[in-house]
Amino acid sequence: MKIVHAASELFPYIKTGGLADAVGSLCSTLADKGHEVAVFVPGYRALLEHKLASGAERLLKLKIEMGNDFISGEVRMFSPKPNLKVYIVCREEYFDRKGIYGTAERDFEDNCLRYIFFCKGIVATLQKENLRADIVHAHDWQVALLPVLLRHAEQRHGTMLALKTIFTIHNIAFQGVFPMRSFYRTNLPDELMSIDGLEYYGQMSFMKAGILFADRVTTVSPRYAQEIQTPQFGCGLDGVIATRSEDIVGLVNGVDTAVWNPAVDEHLPARYSARDMSGKAQCRAELLTRAGFDPETKAPVFGMICRLTEQKGVDLLLSNADFFVNNDCRLVVLGTGDARFEKALRDLAANAPAKVALMARLDEAMSHVVEAGSDFFVMPSLFEPCGLNQMYSQAYGTVPLVSRVGGLYDTVTDAGVDPAAGTGITFPATAHGLRHGLERALKMFSEKKTYAAVQAHGMARDFSWKNAAQAYERLYDESL
Ligand code: ADP
Repeated sequence: MKIVHAASELFPYIKTGGLADAVGSLCSTLADKGHEVAVFVPGYRALLEHKLASGAERLLKLKIEMGNDFISGEVRMFSPKPNLKVYIVCREEYFDRKGIYGTAERDFEDNCLRYIFFCKGIVATLQKENLRADIVHAHDWQVALLPVLLRHAEQRHGTMLALKTIFTIHNIAFQGVFPMRSFYRTNLPDELMSIDGLEYYGQMSFMKAGILFADRVTTVSPRYAQEIQTPQFGCGLDGVIATRSEDIVGLVNGVDTAVWNPAVDEHLPARYSARDMSGKAQCRAELLTRAGFDPETKAPVFGMICRLTEQKGVDLLLSNADFFVNNDCRLVVLGTGDARFEKALRDLAANAPAKVALMARLDEAMSHVVEAGSDFFVMPSLFEPCGLNQMYSQAYGTVPLVSRVGGLYDTVTDAGVDPAAGTGITFPATAHGLRHGLERALKMFSEKKTYAAVQAHGMARDFSWKNAAQAYERLYDESL
């Protein structure tokens, strides 16, 4: 198949979050499977400076119609491996600056124009290169205008650019909503400025366009696909999504098993596998030492790695501070984020230095040690489109404690509900729910056989992208 992807981030070139990993792995896996894959990203300064992205094999000049103006741009193409082409859509004015979406204080004021330009640059390149794709697959709000722009260009020029379009929602909390006065820059017909089009409470919404005009819509887990059709999780778009409920499907992301595999993990003091778990004990001792605890302790170790934000349920954890103080257990948190959460966790660690440790930094290597060295991994997220750490945890024989939302619900089987196959402990996303989960963890840890069985079930799971990409192939086939 000829598959075109479009996204604002692409691992290993440009990344702020899970989107980059998902798009990078999916494109790479599809290319390995023999599909002809092209992926479009904006020419951010950080990307152009990336050593792997230097040396374009092809250069195209573009003239993009935006409203009444024609704006020039450039597309550079390079091919990192067989079957995979990366197209970088460049314009200095829009992308050659420090930062990707904004400064620490606020989003860039011209984000609306930047991403209209990016989407139009993709359409123009498909036209110029005569790329006739089977599938054009757009990820998240930055490229959510692509399906409608594509269809509009096809009508105007009488050419076929794509057989089917797919739009994937990685996080509905970010929608790309801008003042309506920029609508004319899209050159879309005026009737699309309505409630049946891009209009959203008097403004224009990129994400709404993606949801309405793509042939199929996907989310990064089945549960999240259902959740976002409800007011509680839909962030205002639940009604719009419900109109497409027949065409929405949730496909869980894979994990990069070359990086997240305890048998080959270079960040660990010792490697291990389900067959020989002795290395995990060494990792545990290493984690305890680095956290400032006695490395020999028999008490259960709870690990947590995340952005310290409301989404990740840090409030729920803090509401259960007394649990960690009053029970014989350890808590290691690796994370940065909201100042109030950092302070609260720092205070907790200062008050209970023998029990709680905070590592308030971004530390890739340490994140591997926390995953491998913990006995349990805590994820009390309020919402979670997919989530990665619960999958890493299972691969590392670290029993996940997760709230029953989104991808967490889909990828962790409760050991109480299904003792023969359970891989973790699940609970409602409340402080009380987490409390009950923590208490169940203490009990499980005291029953060594039960605990070992749950570890084994998790380690036997296959979360590879090979599996995940197959689900996308099926979806592409089905929609064609
Ligand atoms: P989100 O994209 O919402 O932040 P995900 O679970 O999809 O959540 O991905 C988060 C990724 O970032 C995980 O791989 C996690 O290990 C990593 N991560 C988060 N905080 C840190 C940190 N302080 N140090 C290292 N890695 C981190």
